[in-house]
Amino acid sequence: MIATPAWPPASLPRLFVDEALSEGRTLTLDGAQANYLGAVMRLRAGDQVKLFDDRTGEWLAELSDVGKKRVTLSVGQRLRERESVPDLWLLFAPIKRGRIDWLVEKATELGVARLVPVVTRRTIVDRPNLDRLRAHAIEAAEQCERTALPELVEPQKLETILASWPADRALLFADEQGGEPLAAFAAAPAAILIGPEGGFTNEERAAIRAIPQARSVSLGPRILRADTAALAAVAIWMGAAGDWGRHALR
Ligand code: SAM
Repeated sequence: MIATPAWPPASLPRLFVDEALSEGRTLTLDGAQANYLGAVMRLRAGDQVKLFDDRTGEWLAELSDVGKKRVTLSVGQRLRERESVPDLWLLFAPIKRGRIDWLVEKATELGVARLVPVVTRRTIVDRPNLDRLRAHAIEAAEQCERTALPELVEPQKLETILASWPADRALLFADEQGGEPLAAFAAAPAAILIGPEGGFTNEERAAIRAIPQARSVSLGPRILRADTAALAAVAIWMGAAGDWGRHALR
């Protein structure tokens, strides 16, 4: 028996727009988004796309006018509500461009709720380019069908973060010197803390361990690169306490 094709097709182009969507709204896109729809995807008036706004969910929209620099769309029915993202933050010391871009992209795909760059003694990049990182998060969310973007916050110093750490949030400290398996502490709300390529200093390690919400966790006997460690830790947490286990087949 031939299966009924899913509607709307999963292959429809999907874009984030930074304004609240609602049925019947007319919307004009320009710049890179107009170029993507018109020149790259070669869409024409009458073609459909999916839009999400990180506020109201995901919507079907129809192109009504396609120009070289501007595309006008009419918003149709809502396809999905904005999702509830597992309550996991990823705290990471900024690393080199390329690797940090990859980290943000993959953490978004894996389902992280908040991304927090942390400045430590051995951090090599004090001021990561947040606009570029946000663009990577948006692109990843568009591709992986998230309806909620991860929150990307300004870089903060490690001591500032530790001084006001929320009482109810576990701080899973990825400690290359050893700890318990991460899965043993996988529960929400939580945050994973990953150090820079040079690791944490002994003073930093002691300050982290001193807060009652901190748990030293091990990612095995090998020293992983910071980006590998971050994504391995997120994957373990998501598999045990996130939303990987309750996804219905499409
Ligand atoms: N220079 C450090 C050293 O040689 O010990 C290695 C730092 S590692 C490249 C960067 C960060 O990844 C660490 O600070 C830690 O947070 C995390 N990490 C790497 N391997 C880990 C492991 N096996 N267990 C726990 N955390 C690990």
